[in-house]
Amino acid sequence: MAAQPVMPKSWRVETKPHKFCPGCGHGLVLKALGEAVDELGIQERTVFGCDIGCSLLAWDFFNLDSVQTHHGRTTPVMTGIKRARPELICVAYMGDGGGYAIGSQHLVNAAARNEKITVLLANNTVYAMTGGQMAPTTMPGQKTETSPYGRDPLKTGYPMQGPEMVAAITREGAYVSRGTVTNMRQLKSMIKKALQNQLEGKGFSFVEALSTCPTNWRTNAEETWKYLMVDMPSHFKVGEIKTPAGDVEGAVSV
Ligand code: SF4
Repeated sequence: MAAQPVMPKSWRVETKPHKFCPGCGHGLVLKALGEAVDELGIQERTVFGCDIGCSLLAWDFFNLDSVQTHHGRTTPVMTGIKRARPELICVAYMGDGGGYAIGSQHLVNAAARNEKITVLLANNTVYAMTGGQMAPTTMPGQKTETSPYGRDPLKTGYPMQGPEMVAAITREGAYVSRGTVTNMRQLKSMIKKALQNQLEGKGFSFVEALSTCPTNWRTNAEETWKYLMVDMPSHFKVGEIKTPAGDVEGAVSV
């Protein structure tokens, strides 16, 4: 008999295999979240919110109370749930479009208000579900459907540095970091710290995860890996940026 894959207890087994494309990073980010929830023993009190875009494919991913919202509204919806039921652990999951474009005002204001929620954002440098258009995180020179000659930063700006922005507008008690699906142990550790921060009621917590979209990058396995290991970290620094104790000098590895 074939060995059964080991899944986090908080995953919903009957909805696997999941709906993401082969090679997509979303499943890895959600694995790290599931393991973090399991290890903290908070499955019964965690509420999971996902956004529009490919993150919405996570709507039935977990054995958690889940809510799916549209167009970057996951952050305010989870804020509302947290304010109504402070004993719950509220996780807002989204892509770079949901967090840094159409939902950026929600992210900025929730962070500035130090809402006691956790935002987990997958950065794959494109608008994935709508066909691979240029996103706020598209890298200089990166070709997308709407930047066929490569993103020109002089015309369309540089990629958004989301965690750095969140760190700049939050005060004491916030936790902010950037991980990557190439280092799952580190990513899980960051997500656990973010959830722990919420458990202790200290403040807003935010983790960006560098993730993959081979479908829209039009990359094979080897090219996808290079993109993730070499290209993305040269624009997005991996590590902790802010802990409840204060700013970290530059992004540091954990
Ligand atoms: S389009 Fe990209 S982000 Fe969306 S599921 Fe496929 S690989 Fe993942």
